[in-house]
Amino acid sequence: RKKLVQSKASVPTTSFDDIGGHERAKKELKEALDFLIHRDQISQYGIRPIKGILLSGPPGTGKTLMAKAAAHYTDSVFVSASGSEFVEMYVGVGAQRMRELFQEVRTLAKRNQKTSGIVFIDEIDAIGGHREGSQHREYDQTLNQLLTEMDGISTDQDIRILVIAATNRKDMLDPALLRPGRFDRQIEVDLPDKKARLHILRLHTQNKPLAEDVSLERLAVETFGFSGAQLESVTNEAAIYAMRENSPEITQRHLSAAVDKVMMGEKTDREATQ
Ligand code: ATP
Repeated sequence: RKKLVQSKASVPTTSFDDIGGHERAKKELKEALDFLIHRDQISQYGIRPIKGILLSGPPGTGKTLMAKAAAHYTDSVFVSASGSEFVEMYVGVGAQRMRELFQEVRTLAKRNQKTSGIVFIDEIDAIGGHREGSQHREYDQTLNQLLTEMDGISTDQDIRILVIAATNRKDMLDPALLRPGRFDRQIEVDLPDKKARLHILRLHTQNKPLAEDVSLERLAVETFGFSGAQLESVTNEAAIYAMRENSPEITQRHLSAAVDKVMMGEKTDREATQ
């Protein structure tokens, strides 16, 4: 049987400094995470603990990175699952897996002597999307189990649990998920603007041999509309072009060709799905 938790590395090494742009989102997220760090203070004031944070935005903008950085920032163990994994399971199996995911985070925290854990659920819309009629009984059970697990999170447990979910279809979510005490913190993770694109390009070329002629500034202008994941692809493809030509350095020409390739790739993907 397929194991839900893919990563056994307890606390992720990704930090907020590894994420380009998203300055506002990072600030909002850190503010929410500070509640997790200062648990004693918040219970002293009788503040309700934050249980769920929803990251929403287009694909490839770094939502998974943000969740990992959140775990790093709070020294929390991290487990993850994708909502799509729960789809088309027999009734009861999805709910069981959801329960196991929360057990896993607690076990992992204990084993690593950590006091907090983050459960990351990507593509939450696959289990928490708007439903009509009763044909999706399995989704209901999985979603209900998630809500039960979240309702069970309390301040006086040894291990603090925070659930971070990601979606690129926030409008599709079941309102039950967005109620107070559930995913009541919502953070937008949008496509990067020019400054953020430059930041991301810098991060992903840090360890690559760039030629003198390369202007990442210009590249940031040319990649309007690209996501972080696409920018990462551009730097990687450019490196491949350079290597194929035995060029010791990556030149602006390699980068421009890579931009075209990534743009074309997107187009063919889109055509194929139309
Ligand atoms: P999806 O919604 O498709 O799951 P996502 O928003 O979770 O995507 P990630 O999986 O975090 O996106 O990003 C994919 C990859 O793209 C990252 O591993 C990283 O290499 C790169 N990337 C995306 N956004 C950024 C960013 N803001 N800064 C640096 N790298 C980024």
